[in-house]
Amino acid sequence: MVELSASPLPGAVPQHDLPLFQQLAVLASTQPDPSALLDTLRTTLEVQALTLSFPGEPLPDADRLVVVPLIFREQHLADLCAIAPPETDTVQLASRLTFFAPLIALALAANRPPARHNEWGAAVQQEHDRLEAVLDATNDAILMVDTTGELVIVTLQFERFTGIPRYEVLGQPLETLAHRIETQPGLPEALASVLRALSHNHTESLGSEIEIDEPQHRILVWYSLPVYSQDGTLLGRIFVFRDVMREREVDRLKAEFTTLISHELRTPLTSVKGFSDLILEAGEGALPPEAREYLEIIALNADRLVRLINDILDITHIETDRVDISPRLCSLPETIEQVSAALQPLILERQHRLTVDIEPDLPQIWTDPARMVQILSNLLGNAVKYTLRPGEITVAARYIQSVEALPETATRDQILPCVLVSVRDTGLGIADVDKPHLFKRFYRANNEATRLVGGTGLGLMLVKSFVEMQGGQVWFESEVGQGSTFYFTAPVVESKMILGDAAL
Ligand code: ADP
Repeated sequence: MVELSASPLPGAVPQHDLPLFQQLAVLASTQPDPSALLDTLRTTLEVQALTLSFPGEPLPDADRLVVVPLIFREQHLADLCAIAPPETDTVQLASRLTFFAPLIALALAANRPPARHNEWGAAVQQEHDRLEAVLDATNDAILMVDTTGELVIVTLQFERFTGIPRYEVLGQPLETLAHRIETQPGLPEALASVLRALSHNHTESLGSEIEIDEPQHRILVWYSLPVYSQDGTLLGRIFVFRDVMREREVDRLKAEFTTLISHELRTPLTSVKGFSDLILEAGEGALPPEAREYLEIIALNADRLVRLINDILDITHIETDRVDISPRLCSLPETIEQVSAALQPLILERQHRLTVDIEPDLPQIWTDPARMVQILSNLLGNAVKYTLRPGEITVAARYIQSVEALPETATRDQILPCVLVSVRDTGLGIADVDKPHLFKRFYRANNEATRLVGGTGLGLMLVKSFVEMQGGQVWFESEVGQGSTFYFTAPVVESKMILGDAAL
């Protein structure tokens, strides 16, 4: 193989090649593909083949090969490879090719994206592929629309949840997907409405729940929010759909199990409590003091267990939206009396002083009396429990008609008019670290004193749920070592009439 490499020969411009040069220049300006130039050149130069060999590629395998490098801005773009027929003057061919080489290099450079650009393109593509793989691997279905409302991301899970092939809607306006959902059997119209309503909304974040029947029955919890780049530019909006079927099923089974176990525990406990009370009553005077003491302990603990089981049942019912609330007109002073009387033995034992301060002519409130007893028993019970030394406990009730009459710590969005009840104690108080968690399920302040006092951490959560279910609010003020005041509000009959059933 004869391989000849040539470098430009300054001054050696063959005159007869000038018209061809002009012809190629015109061609280069009109024809984006350099192969047209090569074709013309090959024919004119009468070579067997004229090809380009890019860096890293092998040169053609031929006996009479003339190779001329194509350089553009000091960058070696490719080699121009001519296979010459026998008898060709290869030196002259090399010289002629060298004359045309800059033009071909220019055409090549103009038609090939710069190398750097290619690298970026590859990096962007790689990033895109990676993102797509991650999104497809998540369990949530994700849609993203750009600011023009066009779908730029539709993940594999969306296809699975809805049965709509994603490549049918990717790159289409959201409206197309909304329409597709309406025509797809088993998909709710509400899904289409949500997409439509938010397609051009660039500010709001919303979320809810949607049920679909096909291809498979699912409950999808969704949320949607606008998305911004790091520099704050609005990119569009995403919709995320999470399948919560399994979680719901587990919750349901858990609730069923808890209810079953609680009922099963309550029945024998009722017997334990009933018979111990009976023996205590019947054996009045006849029981040895030790036996009486043991029976009293049994009765007391049976009571505690029944209360705990009832609390667990209530929480389970609240969490599964099966709680019974039957509100009616109630007189609060009577309920306060009833609860205070029940706690009287403990108050006396602890040597507390209980003051009941109820405004005269307090209007009736709209409440479920049994739930109101639970609310007051928990708050008053806590005041008694968490005041370890003899102290002051005050239960007060006021009629509130305006926001200004509320304590400073109350939120301003109360239903008015209402009755405000406060339960104040001079006990342990609550540390700042515990304050944000107090109404959470099973939360108990993490201190020695609380550990000494029995409890489950369920009472305040029940109080909050019952108060809110009846249109009121609950909050507290407390200082460690000084005591605590728990407040709750209950709408009165007028507020019920103003707000209608929606308030309750
Ligand atoms: P429990 O009393 O059964 O532990 P609660 O839900 O009624 O459950 O109360 C949660 C926690 O809040 C209690 O464990 C206690 O730490 C704290 N707490 C509630 N009421 C008071 C109070 N009046 N004074 C001090 N701490 C209180």
